[in-house]
Amino acid sequence: MTSTLLADIGLLATQDAELGEIRDAAILLDGAMISWVGKASSAPAADVRYGLGGRTVLPGFVDSHAHLVFAGDRAEEFAARMRGMPYAAGGIHVTVAATRAASDAVLRRNLERLAGELLRAGVTTFECKSGYGLDVATEQRSVAIAREFTPETTFLGAHVPPPELSRDEYLALVQGAMLDACAPHSRWVDAFCERGAFDEDETRAVLDAGIARGLGARVHANQLTEGPGVQLAVRLGAASADHCTHLSSADIDALAASSTVATLLPLAEFSTRSPYPNARRLIDAGATVALATDCNPGSAYSTSMPLAIALAVRDMHMTPAEAVYAATAGGAKALRRDDIGVVAPGRRADLVALDAPSYIHLAYRPGVPLIAGVWRSGQQAVGSRQSNRR
Ligand SMILES: [Zn+2]
Repeated sequence: MTSTLLADIGLLATQDAELGEIRDAAILLDGAMISWVGKASSAPAADVRYGLGGRTVLPGFVDSHAHLVFAGDRAEEFAARMRGMPYAAGGIHVTVAATRAASDAVLRRNLERLAGELLRAGVTTFECKSGYGLDVATEQRSVAIAREFTPETTFLGAHVPPPELSRDEYLALVQGAMLDACAPHSRWVDAFCERGAFDEDETRAVLDAGIARGLGARVHANQLTEGPGVQLAVRLGAASADHCTHLSSADIDALAASSTVATLLPLAEFSTRSPYPNARRLIDAGATVALATDCNPGSAYSTSMPLAIALAVRDMHMTPAEAVYAATAGGAKALRRDDIGVVAPGRRADLVALDAPSYIHLAYRPGVPLIAGVWRSGQQAVGSRQSNRR
């Protein structure tokens, strides 16, 4: 196995409590794993040495919430919303119709394109939900195609009820034949607990059915209203309560006292011109916060984790360090993964190099393409060796 030393790192933000931030750092990669991290001056010998020209290095971003299996485009709906039309759940049926009509090849090509965008934005692990099929065949195709790209696949049959079935008929299907078809391709089960989608009892029934099949739970909770989703997520031991835009004090206390991560999705608030969640209250209370893209064709059609970080700092009052932690180690916790999200010996060699002297530039220079290199499982996937030798 070839060992590779990434040297001449100006600033390394490890996200590891013991290692902290290291100036003038180096990282030794052995195959897909990190085997050593420390000061460049004490770096061990390696077969290959790449200089990073004083760039900043972070763990690869972990996007723990994305809806990437769909067809069609809702740009006109976005433009209308920006003219003043309210964001409503109805637009999803446009995507459902296009997704049902699309071939596997079309869905795969769209996901491949978005996965490429995520990688170039520094995302080395992403979660991917179904939820635009809302029938057994299309939900199954959705999770099966997602599984070709990521192990973090989520069955979201309980996104909204489709128009052709009654609520009771659809809920029975989601917990029965649809779950049977999707569970073999899924790691997680998710439900949209919201007025206009599913209520507390319906959400619990769907998640319980998934948990009984060995899936982990995650919940779309408290996005549009102060509903029961967060409390339900905590009670069920869900890995993550996602959105958390409208929280009571009791919701914040419940999250802080639990292992359920509060996953914040500021690109959704940005793209629907809605109030942002109060990250400060969550962090100050002791809750673990993750940042994710929520990339989807309706309410947040962006794969830019750097923009999510910039919004978290500017509009959610997170410090740059907190935002980067939430986009890396926080995302890993939201996926219950201990092999990613941190740069330390024994972790997977998933890394991002920024063409900047500090990770603060992710928020300080919003919209600027600062990602100069991405390594996934020890292989450089973005950037060139040439660019490492500046
Ligand atoms: Zn979502």
